[in-house]
Amino acid sequence: MGGTFDPIHHGHLVAASEVQSWFDLDEVTFVPTGQPWQKVDRDVSAAEHRYLMTVVATASNPRFTTSRVDIDRDGPTYTIDTLRDLAAENPETDLYFITGADALAQLFTWRDVDQLFELAHFVGCTRPGYEMDPSMLATIPRERVTLIEIPALSISSTDCRNRRAKGEPVWYLVPDGVVQYIAKHDLYTSA
Ligand code: ATP
Ligand code: MG
Repeated sequence: MGGTFDPIHHGHLVAASEVQSWFDLDEVTFVPTGQPWQKVDRDVSAAEHRYLMTVVATASNPRFTTSRVDIDRDGPTYTIDTLRDLAAENPETDLYFITGADALAQLFTWRDVDQLFELAHFVGCTRPGYEMDPSMLATIPRERVTLIEIPALSISSTDCRNRRAKGEPVWYLVPDGVVQYIAKHDLYTSA
């Protein structure tokens, strides 16, 4: 599961847990992005903070792990590189790329889409506020993409950052350890 995770929140964790259970996956690897090319318009927190918050959030689940492949690669993150690196680290493994409805819609605008489908099965999770465009759904190769309805959690990292900037709590939107990490490092206090 790729993401900026700035910060990781319970929407991410529920999506990962639902997909793990649905496909009976051995492991869900969270992969914080390096410099995300879609988000050049805003300052993303240091990769090391995003990585450590993801480690904290996933540590208690024996099936969840966190990978450094994207943050240790220089330059903008492209999913094709993520999948190639994960495939090289895990030969003989069937890869599933978990993503939310908004990111899935973007996927079809990416370069190398056909190569992506060769490397992984794509799983799109419903996300409150994002309707899948029916014309886009018609173009999806059904054997390589599964859409899954997950319990709706109307949480976004943007909302968590904005709440912090306004001095509002993020308790229960993100895991307790992440609340404490954010406070300890004074993240997101200026918007
Ligand atoms: P931002 O607001 O900064 O864009 P975000 O909450 O969208 O953050 P990302 O790190 O961009 O989080 O998301 C990583 C992946 O998780 C994306 O594929 C996104 O669609 C999915 N996702 C994020 N929040 C939810 C949610 N509440 N329910 C389902 N999927 C989600
Ligand atoms: Mg997002």
